[in-house]
Amino acid sequence: KRAECRPHIVIVPTPGMGHLIPLVQLANRILDSFPSFTLSFLVPTMDAPSKAQVATLAALPLDRASSSFLPPVSTDDLPPGAKIETRICLTLVRSLPTLRSRLVDLARDPTRRLSALVVDLFGTDAFDLCAEFGMKPYIFFPSTAMCLSLFLHLPELDAKVSCEFKDVGEPVRLPGCVPVRGEDLLDPVQDRKNEAYKWILHHAKRYRLAEGILVNTFFELEEGAIKALQRPEPGKPPVYPVGPLVRPGSGKGKDDASECLRWLDEQPRGSVLFVSFGSGGTHTCDQLTELAHGLEMSEQRFLWVVRAPNDTTNATFFNSGEADRDPLGFLPQGFLERTKERGLVIPSWAPQIKVLSHESTGGFLTHCGWNSILESVDHGVPFIAWPLYAEQRMNAVMLTEDLKVALQPRAGPHGLISRGEIAVTVRGLMEGEEGKKIRNKMKDLKGAAVKALSENGSSIKALSEAALKWKSQ
Ligand code: UDP
Repeated sequence: KRAECRPHIVIVPTPGMGHLIPLVQLANRILDSFPSFTLSFLVPTMDAPSKAQVATLAALPLDRASSSFLPPVSTDDLPPGAKIETRICLTLVRSLPTLRSRLVDLARDPTRRLSALVVDLFGTDAFDLCAEFGMKPYIFFPSTAMCLSLFLHLPELDAKVSCEFKDVGEPVRLPGCVPVRGEDLLDPVQDRKNEAYKWILHHAKRYRLAEGILVNTFFELEEGAIKALQRPEPGKPPVYPVGPLVRPGSGKGKDDASECLRWLDEQPRGSVLFVSFGSGGTHTCDQLTELAHGLEMSEQRFLWVVRAPNDTTNATFFNSGEADRDPLGFLPQGFLERTKERGLVIPSWAPQIKVLSHESTGGFLTHCGWNSILESVDHGVPFIAWPLYAEQRMNAVMLTEDLKVALQPRAGPHGLISRGEIAVTVRGLMEGEEGKKIRNKMKDLKGAAVKALSENGSSIKALSEAALKWKSQ
């Protein structure tokens, strides 16, 4: 009788839109490819669900997918300086009792068989519930194969290295990847005494409990890293590159009336640099000023999503009221007037995918968030890399030194990137010879991304392999 039950996948995203968005894309792909599957999202929360979370989950088909938010848990007992990774991991741990009771409810339905539990990079504590419900544990890694490789090697690096990674003196060499300097590794491993590092290490050690790891990249983008990850070794879970999983959004929608898309319609083809720092990126006041002058001095067209300055780089990660300060008030005197023929500045948020798919857009100055990179690859738009937080410095290394599809302005003393450096880099991408080369490489990558997701493409095959295991279990 059990054999007749439909396989049901349970997906548990940890807080952060960068986790939820690609997981919803993954879910839709599974449902499209496997008509017998159903699935549920059970979402741990720190606060009342945001509009963005609700809207993202609304993209799931109601007849085969359900979603529910677990009651918010508090992390207020953490010290005020606790890092975001610590809050995220603790939110999941504190949600385990309610997660378990939702699983009990799901398991009551005799028409389905809980077949796999998919968590993201910070969710391995939920694996403890798998045995009770007969589910197989899987990880969805929403970043690069290179960063996944770092996670899988972290226990070994942790045992070998006794100082901070930035003080080691030579780069970290991950199999099949370009060497990365210690200071460019992801934020939470920069301070090994911090709780956030302990959480990362805790999860890294548990990655081997997974029956498989799905990663949001594709073979042609990270061939070396993926080949190394797929080399079988005892205790190492199979790795499935299933990307690029990005939101669709180049079609018509309610955003089309927005000012920036109308403005783009009036600009020459490939002439506009899109400048945006993800859902939460912010700059100091001084850096914001340099960026404004740099864009002005470059004499190129630009569309800039600007945020109010802040001394931390990801101040608006959870939209903590920062959006209320008018960012335009922080721009240099007369900037808007002087650049009005060439530039458009919009506060806080833009319909990014529509901008990237617009034919006037010819470059992307990005904070190197992985979703932004994949979205740009999907539309063949070349980069200026300006990493800010999380694993973005590693992503920038990959873009500039491995794939060679980005230019990167270098910071001067005190970490400030000067207006002159910005102007030169912008011109280099938009009208220089190097920019032309990069543009051509991006065309190839775009083609490879389309191929990876077409019938018999590398990512579709990888996803089918994983899903077949869930089906046959
Ligand atoms: N995004 C957007 N408009 C904005 C800023 C961001 O639509 O003005 C979207 C972007 O398309 C991407 C996500 O927010 O899907 C940002 O994810 P990413 O991994 O690039 O960076 P994060 O925000 O997690 O640092």
